[in-house]
Amino acid sequence: MDHSQHRPEPIPTGLRGRCPRCGEGHLFKGFLTLRPSCEACGLDYANFDSADGPAFFVMSIVGLVVVGLALWMEITYEPPIWVHALVAGSLSIGLSLLLVRPLKGMLVALQYANKAEQGRFEP
Ligand SMILES: [Zn+2]
Repeated sequence: MDHSQHRPEPIPTGLRGRCPRCGEGHLFKGFLTLRPSCEACGLDYANFDSADGPAFFVMSIVGLVVVGLALWMEITYEPPIWVHALVAGSLSIGLSLLLVRPLKGMLVALQYANKAEQGRFEP
């Protein structure tokens, strides 16, 4: 099979959790665990490691949204502190769970598209 002709767009493909080479096979077997390889084209996923990349983006995005919302709520409604705790707490957890999987898929797909890998010394 020639994969050089049809190259799926890395960002939408990764966000949907699909294989970065064929766009058909699934990337995940659990919530965040990568499959060993693609069931459609056989691409080996063993070299993909997004490490704490997804966590960094999730923290940055969720932190910005939650802090922004808390400031807006305080200025607009001045709610009691338990309302802040409830809104910020549930929003932080909910948004993080919602975002971490698509972001991990996207980082893996971008890693594949840009042929990023561990730095190593030439022999
Ligand atoms: Zn594939």
